[in-house]
Amino acid sequence: MSARILYGDAIRDQIKAECLPRVERVAAHAKRPPGIAVVLVGNDPASQVYVRSKTRTAGELGIYNETITPAVDISTEDLLRLIRSLNRRPEIDAILVQLPLPAQIDAQSVLLAVAPEKDVDGFHPCNVGMLSTGRAGLKPCTPAGVIEMLKRYEIPLTGQNAVVVGRSDIVGKPMAMLLLHENATVTMCHSRTRDLAGVCRTADILVAAIGRPAMITADYIKPGAVVVDVGVNSVTDRAQAEKIFSSERMATFDKRGSLLVGDVHPGDMARLASAYTPVPGGVGPLTIAMLMRNTIEAAERRTGAA
Ligand code: NAP
Repeated sequence: MSARILYGDAIRDQIKAECLPRVERVAAHAKRPPGIAVVLVGNDPASQVYVRSKTRTAGELGIYNETITPAVDISTEDLLRLIRSLNRRPEIDAILVQLPLPAQIDAQSVLLAVAPEKDVDGFHPCNVGMLSTGRAGLKPCTPAGVIEMLKRYEIPLTGQNAVVVGRSDIVGKPMAMLLLHENATVTMCHSRTRDLAGVCRTADILVAAIGRPAMITADYIKPGAVVVDVGVNSVTDRAQAEKIFSSERMATFDKRGSLLVGDVHPGDMARLASAYTPVPGGVGPLTIAMLMRNTIEAAERRTGAA
């Protein structure tokens, strides 16, 4: 049987459609729409692309948005002052500090300074605590998007063995916590895990959030598993690309000089999994939709419009 492909676009569109009436409710109740401020320090081109795509989506949904672009050499103290001023502004419900921050900035202090009720990335320890104790709070967008996708594709989670590879604060840890709340039996793996392939082969649901191109190959995947590939990696080396992509895709590689791949080998995943998220087009589209949903949730709580 061929594997089901779990595309993110359709789910993203559903989530965005569900956001529209909620934006209108907030606007009617609070006499203003939900508002998000994005802080983008410096001129990193990839960050600029991400931020443009976040603010464009906010605009489409009628969410007030502004992008603040401090110079690349801003000090931690000045950035903290900026965050505190955003915390005080009543029409700003959500603050997003685009990562990575330049090396001179104490990123932990900056993320800690964001008011927890405006922390739409769900990175503040208060929101981490809310998540781990199963209380309503703002949840990190990418893992929350994965859960949304699995539920909407009606992938059973209760009692399933879930293995999460990667333990970052942004993806791996909250992913494991969210799966636990869905009653999966969760194992977390990382770079020191012994017999990683063997542990992964116990997974009914395997989530890869590693940042290593196509590292998860056939011997990590139990036949019939559901595989969620969070990784996004650009492959530019032809010899490496040849080990990953079909001859058809190699023609595209030769035209462009690079191709995106996840953390899971795409051919092995398609051959062995019962369902999987493709890269690109799987988990990726959901992150911004979940950010919009978090912004609206923050606005609903702050204005009492829920
Ligand atoms: P990260 O902070 O670099 O964390 C990577 C994790 O993978 C770490 O916990 C690390 O273990 C583990 N790891 C690294 N090499 C390993 C190995 N050989 N074996 C086992 N575990 C290994 O990365 P991240 O921010 O979580 O992101 C992970 C991937 O997801 C990246 O490709 C990123 O681009 C992608 N991502 C996608 C989205 C999206 O919207 N689709 C959003 C966020 C991230 P240690 O802790 O032991 O070092």
